[in-house]
Amino acid sequence: MNTSEGATPPQEPPRQIRKATTRAESLIIVNTGDGKGKSTAAFGVVLRAVARDWNVCVIQFIKSGKWKVGEEKICRDLGVDWLKGGDGFTWESTDLDATEKIAMGSWQLAKAAIENGEYHLVVLDEITYPMNWRWIDPSEVIDTFQNRPRHVNIVATGRGAPLELIAIADTVTEMVNVRHAFDNGVKARRGIDF
Ligand code: ATP
Ligand code: MG
Repeated sequence: MNTSEGATPPQEPPRQIRKATTRAESLIIVNTGDGKGKSTAAFGVVLRAVARDWNVCVIQFIKSGKWKVGEEKICRDLGVDWLKGGDGFTWESTDLDATEKIAMGSWQLAKAAIENGEYHLVVLDEITYPMNWRWIDPSEVIDTFQNRPRHVNIVATGRGAPLELIAIADTVTEMVNVRHAFDNGVKARRGIDF
């Protein structure tokens, strides 16, 4: 994509579209990269899942209740189980140990939610960070994902997805940061960012 000058040149339409031949029982989806949209896309999947009457749960590993995120409110209204995760942005935390413990607790909730088969969709928002910091054991996460009940779909988000997670995922999308309003000093906005 040419972002610095002129318009996007015309493109050839795709000629061959591969025909899908198999129907997976469930998928592991990873949204990673530095651009905006990882969590937003995960909540898009939540909407689709709710529309199909799936049982859905969301666990956020980093953001806190004090952010009063809009997605938490609407998810609860829609009957999504919102299992409590992180304690504010880690870089704002005054007690790193506590934040680490909360992330570990979140993983215990997540592991149980995956293993008990109660949900068709489990969203693990920002799980890549505690994996990369080794607050939670990446190999335990991978094992849990791979040995999940076959109907349990998982969406995992966060920057810098570990390679072993990318290796086992069915769909991996890297959001590329072309530009973000924040770069021009625009603060996170209600209704857009949370
Ligand atoms: P979103 O929740 O908006 O989909 P995200 O999940 O892709 O964002 P996070 O790192 O979780 O990315 O974003 C947390 C907050 O930081 C959000 O308010 C988001 O708008 C903002 N943000 C996301 N990407 C960038 C970026 N490249 N530069 C600055 N701020 C960003
Ligand atoms: Mg996010």
